[in-house]
Amino acid sequence: MKLPIYQIVSACLLAVTITSCASNPYAVTNRIYKKQTKELAKTIREIPATQAGQDWAGTTNFSLRKPNYVIIHHTAQNSAEQTLKTFTMPKTQVSAHYVIAKDGKVYHMLNDYLRAWHGGSSKWGNATDINSSSIGIELDNNGYEAFSESQMGSLVNVLSSLKTNYSIPTANFIGHSDIAPGRKVDPNANFPWKDLSEKGFGLWPDAVLDSVPQNFNPPEALRIIGYDIKNLEYAIRSFKLHFIQNDLSPMLTEFDKQVLYNLYKKYL
Ligand SMILES: [Zn+2]
Repeated sequence: MKLPIYQIVSACLLAVTITSCASNPYAVTNRIYKKQTKELAKTIREIPATQAGQDWAGTTNFSLRKPNYVIIHHTAQNSAEQTLKTFTMPKTQVSAHYVIAKDGKVYHMLNDYLRAWHGGSSKWGNATDINSSSIGIELDNNGYEAFSESQMGSLVNVLSSLKTNYSIPTANFIGHSDIAPGRKVDPNANFPWKDLSEKGFGLWPDAVLDSVPQNFNPPEALRIIGYDIKNLEYAIRSFKLHFIQNDLSPMLTEFDKQVLYNLYKKYL
């Protein structure tokens, strides 16, 4: 049977659409991504409106702003697929630059130069808009389990590129709970912060700790490290989730104070 040409063309188009949708379940949201980046590019190209008494004189010397922090999260969901779905539904208003599955598969979801919506209301030092200055990495984890070796291996690869590409300081690899005390508890206490610090991502206390001087001020030390101490108990909980891990009680033991004093000196 000889089909008219338009039928052949539409049959082919249909076949192509079905195959590409089947091979890429994100074809539709990828198209939305492209459209949104085009809109943002348009904003960048526009010459800003000047106020009375101002002139526009475009410089020739500039580049894109770079991320300066990496914030690590656990998803508190049951699978990476579930998280990809959450991050591609406009109504959730949440996203991250990277999602890393338990088997080590890395999903890059947003250009590193763009602002993901992963930090929420947060504070570290005097920085309050952490989303604007950071990369968000979500690790597939239900919130209580350990992190697999494959997942950590992939995380280290991603962190290495980010550190090199954007010259991110070692101390600026931190967790969501660090920047949102009292509101967030990720990544959970199984997260291997010590191992990561040995690879150059995040700080960790020395093995031998000095005794704490008489005039040592723990809240001040927490504040200097970066914690929001508006609620001291929350700040202590976040500090212990990251740097103590095997005791999460909201008070500082003598050992905790030694760890805090040791770390505080690294941040001075
Ligand atoms: Zn988080």
